Amino acid sequence: MSLFRKAGEKFEETKRSVMGGGGAEYRCESCTESVSEPSEHCPHCGEDAVVAVE
Ligand SMILES: [Zn+2]
Repeated sequence: MSLFRKAGEKFEETKRSVMGGGGAEYRCESCTESVSEPSEHCPHCGEDAVVAVE
């Protein structure tokens, strides 16, 4: 049981580093501010211009 939990934690860590390790994953094309989570509207300027950063 504890072994299973340890493997799960390792998987979460791996997943997080693959996701970019803390960098912004979205950006507003209108005001160029980085957006930390997917949103239809930019939290900075309110424009519907949030795109995923590759
Ligand atoms: Zn914006």
